[in-house]
Amino acid sequence: MIELSFSEKVALIEENLATIKTRMVKSAEKGGREAKDIKLVAVTKLLPLETIKAGIAAGLRDFGENYPEQAYEKIRALAGDEKLTWHMIGHIQSRKTRTVCSYFDWVHAVDRLKIARYLDRYCAEINRIMPILIEVNVSGEESKHGWNAWDENSWPDLVAQFKEISLFPHIKIHGLMSMPPFFDDPEKTRPFYQRLGRLQQFLKDQLPEISWDELSIGTSFDYEVAIEEGATIIRLGTTIFGARP
Ligand SMILES: *Cc1c(COP(=O)(O)O)cnc(C)c1O
Repeated sequence: MIELSFSEKVALIEENLATIKTRMVKSAEKGGREAKDIKLVAVTKLLPLETIKAGIAAGLRDFGENYPEQAYEKIRALAGDEKLTWHMIGHIQSRKTRTVCSYFDWVHAVDRLKIARYLDRYCAEINRIMPILIEVNVSGEESKHGWNAWDENSWPDLVAQFKEISLFPHIKIHGLMSMPPFFDDPEKTRPFYQRLGRLQQFLKDQLPEISWDELSIGTSFDYEVAIEEGATIIRLGTTIFGARP
């Protein structure tokens, strides 16, 4: 998009968003829900400030970033104008946890007990409660982060750990996040999202005192399937902004 003027960038993003919204409405209908109940997070990792500003001009308010060191400069630069919501969607290194607590509004990828403990500690220091999602790996792929949940027989082992996380006073669980394997055909991710839906129900039954309502699933390539299978938050980058640099 670099060669485009600002207003051309805005127009292009608006056009992409119009297509996405139409598809969201259709997929939500198929899943028996309404598109307005699904939050679109615009993923801006590696994208320059200018592109994010174009996104804001096109109406976007929720942004997802993966790298705290890059994100916090953008968050600072954009503070003040519109009320934006920043979602940390990437794997968190423990030494970056303080930055995450200071700058982000949501954390999607809490993938181990240690990081939950760190988040709680640093959020306590600044006296805030961070909304979080628990990342689970429902595919068994070793390259994926998160609690291993591909084997449904292992689910009872997760209960005590998630209970422990729920007791940290400065973080609050709102649901689950997952990254399925990448296939050439988005239909192939459907069974993984269905397993995630069963896990969500299992956790609702086992730990009813915790809110499990949010499901952060679906990227540019499979968000329609994800919405049909219950996504409440989708995380889209390339389909809004084009290929990343
Ligand atoms: C990059 C990223 C996305 C967005 O991917 P696109 O294919 O650009 O839509 C979503 N979720 C996570 C965790 C990511 O790292």
